[in-house]
Amino acid sequence: MEEARIPHRMCTACGKRRIKEELFCFTVEAGCVVFAASGHNGRSAYLCRDKNCIGKALKKGSLSKSLKAQMTPEFLEKLSEIVENAG
Ligand SMILES: [Zn+2]
Repeated sequence: MEEARIPHRMCTACGKRRIKEELFCFTVEAGCVVFAASGHNGRSAYLCRDKNCIGKALKKGSLSKSLKAQMTPEFLEKLSEIVENAG
């Protein structure tokens, strides 16, 4: 019963639905994809805290597509770092 009230979000890479705590949240700032601050408003996209999903999203550009925004080199670097550290 309790579980039904927890909002689930869909991972852009694998399409699985998870609770927010298990996902990275991204949003758009000045036309670029950024990590969303907690409590932000507006368009958002999610990725599992999983290097496979992040890697997949990097390769396919799924974040850019779903947010209709660009991924800056800085942002890509940050994501790659996360992938490496998760490995
Ligand atoms: Zn995923």
